[in-house]
Amino acid sequence: MITNLKIQSNCIKCDMCKILCPENAIIKVENEYFLETWACSLCNICVKICPADSIKSNKECGET
Ligand code: SF4
Ligand code: SF4
Repeated sequence: MITNLKIQSNCIKCDMCKILCPENAIIKVENEYFLETWACSLCNICVKICPADSIKSNKECGET
């Protein structure tokens, strides 16, 4: 399957991923964050910088 990233519900809404994503793939709508997988280059920056460890791949989430 194709690897995609997802923002988990333990996100503390710090804005860091949105600010640092080089592809602008993370958007915020009404205080909720969405990761636009079509724009994401899987650079992993957001995964590394997230202070709440909230960004996981769909494989880590146990999706098939
Ligand atoms: S992996 Fe990289 S491109 Fe994808 S959402 Fe995170 S920071 Fe943006
Ligand atoms: S960096 Fe992590 S905690 Fe901060 S807004 Fe993004 S997903 Fe949420």
